[in-house]
Amino acid sequence: MNWLKNFVPPKLRKLVGGQREIPENLWHKCPNCSQMIFHRDLAEKIHVCPHCDYHFRISSKERMQMLLNDSEHEEIEINASLVDPLKFRDLKKYPDRLKEARTKTGKNDVLTVTFGQMETHKVVLVVFDFAFMGGSMGIAVGDGILEAGRKAIEENCPLIIIPSSGGARMQEGVLSLMQLSSTTIAINEVKKAGLPYIVVLTDPTTGGVSASFAMLGDIAIAEPGCRIGFAGKRVIEQTIRENLPEGFQKAEYLLEHGMIDMVVHRHNLRETLVNIINLLTKPKGANLIKVNSPIKNKQLSEANLNSASKRTPLKSDKTV
Ligand SMILES: [Zn+2]
Repeated sequence: MNWLKNFVPPKLRKLVGGQREIPENLWHKCPNCSQMIFHRDLAEKIHVCPHCDYHFRISSKERMQMLLNDSEHEEIEINASLVDPLKFRDLKKYPDRLKEARTKTGKNDVLTVTFGQMETHKVVLVVFDFAFMGGSMGIAVGDGILEAGRKAIEENCPLIIIPSSGGARMQEGVLSLMQLSSTTIAINEVKKAGLPYIVVLTDPTTGGVSASFAMLGDIAIAEPGCRIGFAGKRVIEQTIRENLPEGFQKAEYLLEHGMIDMVVHRHNLRETLVNIINLLTKPKGANLIKVNSPIKNKQLSEANLNSASKRTPLKSDKTV
């Protein structure tokens, strides 16, 4: 429609309905099966490909809408301090990059910390936004998780974190590495208070994030096909001088090797989380929701069934 915008005079544009806002990306190409998907169909399916079940990355806002009750929830403010200790500059200065990310996403930093409800349970939900500088972990992320931990203890409710991050934010130098310990302290405080800490790993969970709070969940869930690891495949292959197996950093591979507890389809995530919280917070009279599998793709559903039967039973499973 660019020719219409650029060359048709405004009066004529009004006549042909050029006044209406036309979204730029009406169709999305699935990177897995190459099918074209209409944007409304994709949004309806919570950004899961209707043809092959590929899970697209989603924003923190969509993630919260999908998980929390519609009732009001409280967003917990985090101090987004602008620290540029290294006076870091690559193609752009670090403060300029921050400003750009803030304009693009409308967020102050990577994290959104919310206190809300899932069914009847109060929860503190922390969601990463990959669109904000690759979900990188700087001081604001450390502060946010500390704040989330405090809120969970204050409200006596579970803490759920959904990371999607490339790792520590190199622009903040050693200060970003210190967030590995501060986030671990926050998680330990929650555990000491006897509250459940659940982590939902999404694509990608790598670097410093996977080396700290992301791997400390009482229950570790992952979305199908997401990449979870510390260093990239090429770096590891060059270091150990060996070829790595196909898909070795995928959620399903990690499940098979006992690194995570479940791989859960996005459409079943809310029900699964509610069931887990039910089991962990009131194990005797827990009312479980039946989770229907909406998986249509034969290959994927078979893979999921296989992985589900192979997974190590959770401690909570025994109490039912
Ligand atoms: Zn697809």
